[in-house]
Amino acid sequence: MPSTQRFDKVLIANRGEIALRVVRACREMGLKTVVVCSEADRHSTYARSADQSICIGPSAASKSYLNQNAILLAARLSGAGAVHPGYGFLSENARFSAAVEDAGMRFIGPDADAIATMGDKIAAKSAMVAAGVPCVPGPDTELPVEPNLIRAIASEIGYPVIVKAAGGGGGRGMRVVLDEADLVEAVSLTREEARKAFGTPALYMEKFLQHPRHIEIQVLCDTHGNAVWLGHRDCSMQRRHQKVVEEAPAPGISEALIGPVGEACVQACQQIGYRGVGTFEFLYEDGAFYFIEMNTRLQVEHPVTEETSGVDIVQQQLRVAQGEALSMSQPDVVCKGHAIECRINAEDPATFMPSAGIITALELPQGEGIRVDTHVEAGYKVSPYYDSLIAKLIVHGRDRADAMQRTRLALASFKLGGITTNLPLLRELFEDPAFAQGETDIHYLEKWLKTRG
Ligand code: ADP
Repeated sequence: MPSTQRFDKVLIANRGEIALRVVRACREMGLKTVVVCSEADRHSTYARSADQSICIGPSAASKSYLNQNAILLAARLSGAGAVHPGYGFLSENARFSAAVEDAGMRFIGPDADAIATMGDKIAAKSAMVAAGVPCVPGPDTELPVEPNLIRAIASEIGYPVIVKAAGGGGGRGMRVVLDEADLVEAVSLTREEARKAFGTPALYMEKFLQHPRHIEIQVLCDTHGNAVWLGHRDCSMQRRHQKVVEEAPAPGISEALIGPVGEACVQACQQIGYRGVGTFEFLYEDGAFYFIEMNTRLQVEHPVTEETSGVDIVQQQLRVAQGEALSMSQPDVVCKGHAIECRINAEDPATFMPSAGIITALELPQGEGIRVDTHVEAGYKVSPYYDSLIAKLIVHGRDRADAMQRTRLALASFKLGGITTNLPLLRELFEDPAFAQGETDIHYLEKWLKTRG
């Protein structure tokens, strides 16, 4: 497919807040929009917001948002020239990217090869090693089956080690091993799980870092070999590997330390001929960065980078997909102030069980530096079929302390009735002194949740 193919209509193969976010970016650029929706989402704001909406199937995602044939048919029928996959669902599916392009449309994301390479964690790691991106100690090759060879690799790395599935995702397919006595059995169990869950038994092993932070780098690449990084984010505030609060920039990290890592990410993109936006995820411990994976799509937390860098990441995605050259080079990227995103989830704040039902009242916080990305409104029915994310509160301040204080006020004035959400928990978390101080690790939130009972 030629790299300069223009399009004037985009099909959005997603739902919820991100579908609305993409519709907004398309509108701002004068592009027409088509959204697909399931039966459950037929009357939702995002389905109404687009120029056209097409119901592609029943509520279960496997029959609608994951149904490639239905989406491709909708794209062809509507005359769309490009497909935006959003995040989740088919956004990192190499087969889908290829099918869209084979049907003569532009997939708004990287090509199928780049998605496949990054989806195979061993291939991703070796591409990163080759590009000079710092990785977690451990070989970038598949773990052998022979027990003595496995033991030799683990002793070389040094315990504790983590055994990971090459095809793993969503925090699954990993096992930490503290000493040699448990090693061989842990490898066999993980291999079996990987075979069942990911369709490939391939595993690899690396050093288990004990108190890391999660720091990631946002990149943006065009089809002419230009690439920039748009700064960094800290997403360490997680529960069960799910991010809850994200911020940009990562606190307490000097530009001198992270600058070379950002440059290495840009070089890696150029080496693999990467197109579009992407995120390099790192663990950061004791002053060093270790690559863990690359996400080849737009991320939930992209707004914090938009707020600090002033770059509209979704518009940029659309521009590079049209074959435009990047309008900025690295010195043009100047990040200002500090931005924080809170994920507002429809869930019980104590048990974390998803809550479904009708939102009876909604009052959004307002004011300078406050942005809410959401698809919900009063009267909206939160369906049990999908992710519990119902809104993202994004706050931009002069510095971290200012952004934290504005977030506290915004959370206090965020009123949502009819269903339970994690708003009370977020309000409490923002009063926590260690969080206010910054630089807490990826285990902090779970420990904090335990101590408050
Ligand atoms: P997934 O694709 O399933 O999200 P990742 O490789 O991104 O898998 O790892 C998910 C999480 O597992 C990380 O955010 C981190 O909490 C933990 N993790 C992964 N690798 C390591 C490691 N080498 N040391 C410590 N924790 C790790």
